Amino acid sequence: MAVRKIVTAENPVLRQKAKKVHRFDNSHKKLIADMFETMEVARGAGLAAPQIGLSIRLFVAEYEGERIALFNPEIVKREGSVLGTEGCLSIPGYIGENIPRAEKITVKAQDYKGRQVRHELEGWFARIVQHEIDHLDGILYLDRLQRPEDLKELVPEEEEALEEEVAVQPE
Ligand code: ZN
Repeated sequence: MAVRKIVTAENPVLRQKAKKVHRFDNSHKKLIADMFETMEVARGAGLAAPQIGLSIRLFVAEYEGERIALFNPEIVKREGSVLGTEGCLSIPGYIGENIPRAEKITVKAQDYKGRQVRHELEGWFARIVQHEIDHLDGILYLDRLQRPEDLKELVPEEEEALEEEVAVQPE
């Protein structure tokens, strides 16, 4: 396994519509393992292939120990609407508040062997998956902000700032 480099918002790959995957072979297993590892190291809840520079329709996500890796996902049913806060590994240092998402979704997709799968998801897991599927269409949460002030810059934690200060002090 290997940790891949995560691209950030200014990279045009994040604005492309990713290509459908037609061929399913063993190479996907390694890619999925790499994506989970990259996601874990970056402390994310989901990661879409375009975020590591690959413009293909694949994402991985994890919620409460349940892991999914879906190819060519399609939301076939949406129910309800909720506002929530989201971060994105490609937009470090910021979060977006009051981002509307469907409360419950049904996703049709393919697994790593190309088999058809269906997931009914709700709440936070449904939000993560909607965010990741947006990545496959070149959409970032920034596009879904209702008001510019809902984009918040994260202030580094005081202890971290303190540590940095301590580190640069001459002995
Ligand atoms: Zn994201």
